[in-house]
Amino acid sequence: MSSSTASAGTPHPAIETGLTDVFERCRTQTQGKVATYIPELATMPPEQFGLALATIDGKLSTRGDADSEFTIQSVSKAFSYCLALELLGRDEVLRHVGVEPSGDAFNAIIFDPRTERPFNPMVNAGAITICALIYRELKDDALEFVLDRFSKAAGRRLRISDPVYRSECVTGHRNRAIGHLLLTVGAAREPIEPALDLYFKQCSILVNATDLARMGATLANIGQNPFTQESVFDVAAVRDTLSVMFTCGMYDYSGNWAVDVGIPAKSGVGGGVVGVVNRQLGIGTFSPRLDDKGNSVRGLKAFQELADEFGLHAFECTNYGSEFMRSLA
Ligand code: GLN
Repeated sequence: MSSSTASAGTPHPAIETGLTDVFERCRTQTQGKVATYIPELATMPPEQFGLALATIDGKLSTRGDADSEFTIQSVSKAFSYCLALELLGRDEVLRHVGVEPSGDAFNAIIFDPRTERPFNPMVNAGAITICALIYRELKDDALEFVLDRFSKAAGRRLRISDPVYRSECVTGHRNRAIGHLLLTVGAAREPIEPALDLYFKQCSILVNATDLARMGATLANIGQNPFTQESVFDVAAVRDTLSVMFTCGMYDYSGNWAVDVGIPAKSGVGGGVVGVVNRQLGIGTFSPRLDDKGNSVRGLKAFQELADEFGLHAFECTNYGSEFMRSLA
């Protein structure tokens, strides 16, 4: 594993030094376990660790295994939610999926008792509903729509890992159960199989930490990829997406995350975490060892350290955050 790699543009030396320090401090963290409930994920080398920062003025800085690919898994939920908002409008999406933290595990079989809808789009029940809505609108074009927009946000054409997709498809009984329950409460409509298939495929998209940083920077730059200048996401949809990432993105750790880190983020069981410092930068981390809530252990530590090092918490009282961008100028 190399400790320091590529950069495009010329990030400020203080940023480079800070990033190296954070990387080195997190590297020694070896707690947690690689996900095994999707059998193919168990084959991931546990030691990998990548870190990437992408700014809204198109600068990139990476450390470690920032080019190693892994499946996006639940990180996809944030971006497909953004796309559903654009496609169907906020009211229609809200009729099907709430925006309330659930306080439950990501794969919990539970709906909001008041509305009988999934609590939010960042847990499996909500994300499967979002896939059902996208499928309802676009039918067989749905997958290409998702893949194309994710690719535009990353700035390169992404592809699906067939082994991971197949692995999840054959073992995804719990997600199938959730899909069928969604039919019983009217949150989704028949046919549910194509919606589940879209969900499994979107979770199996291969990305690396650099892609996640660029995708995050696209959200930070209110929908325009700062490296390609391409408009990728709808502005109003980005605002709602970041709000839900802030309150629900780290599952039943979201409250702690909001206090400790204070950066809208989304994690996935592939070991990735994307974070968005609004109007400043996107952060991508990758390390496959997870805690018992399904969040990357090194990812959590890296975000915590980055937030402290650069003053990135949304409510940082010294307002260090704006200093961060100024220092890059
Ligand atoms: N595809 C995974 C699942 O549905 C995604 C879960 C996750 O990343 N938390 O179980």
